[in-house]
Amino acid sequence: MSLGLKVYPELCHGCGNCVVACPVNALRSVEIAAGKGPSEDVDIIMMVDDGTIQLKNADLCGKCGTCVESCPVNAITLEESPLHWRNY
Ligand code: SF4
Ligand code: SF4
Repeated sequence: MSLGLKVYPELCHGCGNCVVACPVNALRSVEIAAGKGPSEDVDIIMMVDDGTIQLKNADLCGKCGTCVESCPVNAITLEESPLHWRNY
């Protein structure tokens, strides 16, 4: 068992707080580091797609918890799981 990212798209309103709060995402995209969504297809952990949060590369997560703290509606969490959670 280990901590893994889990998202609840049904709770998400697509604000993008978690995407720009994540230090791993910021290191991989200068646009995210500047507080915007990525305009190019870059390898980041999660992004807002069609209005809701989507996990893209959960394996990159350092489990720091910053995204969890940034979400106003608890739509992204770190939970005990046997493998990394994915929302697809
Ligand atoms: S827990 Fe993972 S996805 Fe969330 S901010 Fe930290 S590294 Fe990024
Ligand atoms: S998971 Fe939370 S912080 Fe991230 S985009 Fe959705 S509502 Fe915003």
